[in-house]
Amino acid sequence: MFIVKKTLAYLCLPFKLSTFYVLLFLIFSFSSNAKQNIAMLNAFEEPYQTYYLSLTSAPTKTLAQLEGMSIPDNASNIQKAQYYGVLSQAYYTLIYPQKSLDFVQLALTLVNESDQPWLYHNLRLFESLAFELAGKMTQGVDGVKNALQWAETHDATSTYLLALYTQSIYHTSLEDYLSALKTAQKGYSIAPIRNEVYKRADFAILLAQIYEARKDYMLAIPYYEEAEIDFRANNQLNTLSLILYGLGRANYSVGNIDLGKKDLEESLAISKEIDDVQGEAYTLLQLANINIKQENFTLAKMQLLSAKDIFIKANNRKVNIITGSSLATVALQQQDTELAEYYIQEVEKELDRVDMPDIALIFDETRSTLLYQQEKYKESYELLQSVYNDYKRHRNQQSSDQLHQMRVDYDLKSQELENDILTEQNLRQLNEIKGQRSRNVFLLVIAILAVAFGVLMVILIYRSMDHRRSLEILATTDELTGLYNRRYVLAHLKKQISQSERYKSDLCVAMIDLDWFKQINDRFGHLTGDKVLRLFSKYCLKNLRSSDVIGRIGGEEFLIILPHTNSSDAYAVMDKVRSNMENLTKEINISDLKVTISIGLCKWVDGDLPEDVMLFADKALYQIKGSGRDQVLLWDRDKEL
Ligand code: GH3
Ligand code: MG
Ligand code: MG
Repeated sequence: MFIVKKTLAYLCLPFKLSTFYVLLFLIFSFSSNAKQNIAMLNAFEEPYQTYYLSLTSAPTKTLAQLEGMSIPDNASNIQKAQYYGVLSQAYYTLIYPQKSLDFVQLALTLVNESDQPWLYHNLRLFESLAFELAGKMTQGVDGVKNALQWAETHDATSTYLLALYTQSIYHTSLEDYLSALKTAQKGYSIAPIRNEVYKRADFAILLAQIYEARKDYMLAIPYYEEAEIDFRANNQLNTLSLILYGLGRANYSVGNIDLGKKDLEESLAISKEIDDVQGEAYTLLQLANINIKQENFTLAKMQLLSAKDIFIKANNRKVNIITGSSLATVALQQQDTELAEYYIQEVEKELDRVDMPDIALIFDETRSTLLYQQEKYKESYELLQSVYNDYKRHRNQQSSDQLHQMRVDYDLKSQELENDILTEQNLRQLNEIKGQRSRNVFLLVIAILAVAFGVLMVILIYRSMDHRRSLEILATTDELTGLYNRRYVLAHLKKQISQSERYKSDLCVAMIDLDWFKQINDRFGHLTGDKVLRLFSKYCLKNLRSSDVIGRIGGEEFLIILPHTNSSDAYAVMDKVRSNMENLTKEINISDLKVTISIGLCKWVDGDLPEDVMLFADKALYQIKGSGRDQVLLWDRDKEL
């Protein structure tokens, strides 16, 4: 990259802002270009490349070589354009703005944008840099914009970095330091770390210069130091002199006066060594600045005059104006009003208030001091006031730009934050839905389990009830006939008696015994006997009322409880049962088998225990057995008494 020294006028005194490198091109692209592929350049060809490279080390020597070179008659337009382009950069490096501009514009007349876009845009960038150096920045804006766009769309890294570099310089000149920093930082982050011509260290210098322009000297120093190590190691003396110049200024500004002067002196020595006269002049200007502040006016004046000579020779208009303004300041300090007026008039002629608003402010301030010394107090006051207002406007403009930038940044950040929050909310909702789903599944499983458990419980309860019922049935039922067993019938009789006691209701008890049953067994077999018992039971159930209870109390003996039944009704019912036994005999249908029954009937009388009625019924039955069987007999309670 080339080095160029320029000014930042608002700092009141001139200073060597930078030795701007113009980006060179990746080394490997040169070797591929050795084939002289003129059809489409993507880097300078030899020998222009070599000259271009050597500008970072010894610009004066290189310029002399370029000037001594003769272009062959048969050289193509593209070769000529390359030559003039490199020549322009040599002048740029040594800060001859007009010459740099003239040659690059000559080069541009030889190049067609569509045939050689790379060369065209690089030359346009050289031109933009030269415009800026010449204080005609407005004319270079389009060149930067177009080159940046072209490089971006064509993925031309070297041109892109050069464009970023140039754009950052433009932002700096416009005092839009935020944009300048952003652009420079972008370059810093993508530039290669180690490369002879074009590297991160170049952007480190740029960043340092921007911080310096912002007066953030503490931030500038580490970037300068980073670059110093790199360029010292590569013996790129011209750039090193620039770095030391900036570092000297920064150190001086933060109060490291001795260190600052030492850096500046080394910078001056290097400039002399490589015959960089303008570099020398800038350093002299800076040392003069220090001397003015330290009130060494005579020394400052000498240094300024030496610098001015060089700037005039170099046609360095912008810096010459600043030098003139500084000389006027020195003259005013030395009470030499006439000399001050001379310098002021000289500056007035050169000053372009549109392109150099910052310098104009400082110059007007100096002018107001002159008017004061000339005892033109009113004019001095008015001028100072307008300077003050302009200064305020200038700062306001800048701060409102910065505010706007901050606002935009803030909005962007807020938007990002909002997006983050929304994303987080979505995720949370998604998780909630997932959670809800798994909760639902869980609930469903629980519900199914609960239902299953319930069903199981019901089954178990039912089974246990069933079991209980079976047990109950077993406990209360006679296995053979299905009638109530003795235990149950007797318990029931007891209950029924207490009911009858309470309600004073009638109750009768009948005891039935099958006649000659032993014979039935003997004649027809035990199984037939069983069958008779079962059929008889069925027959009884069919012929009795639902409120009557019958149970088997012995082998072929049965007890019937007839609640709410008086003795005559009971007799009638029992006799009907007895007489209808013929039907049962028919149903059994075994020849010679006739089943008859004897029934002892007893009426319950208040005060009777179950055993009492059982006994009387049995007595009645016994009586029948002795008198022919197949009868019903009601036990006569009176007889008992
Ligand atoms: P009676 O008319 O005097 O009552 O004469 P009976 O033969 O009926 O009386 P007994 O008391 O002499 O005989 C009863 C018979 O009943 C004896 C027994 O073998 C029979 N028996 C008792 N329980 C059962 C039973 O469960 N099945 C069968 N097949 N026979 C039974
Ligand atoms: Mg019997
Ligand atoms: Mg019997």
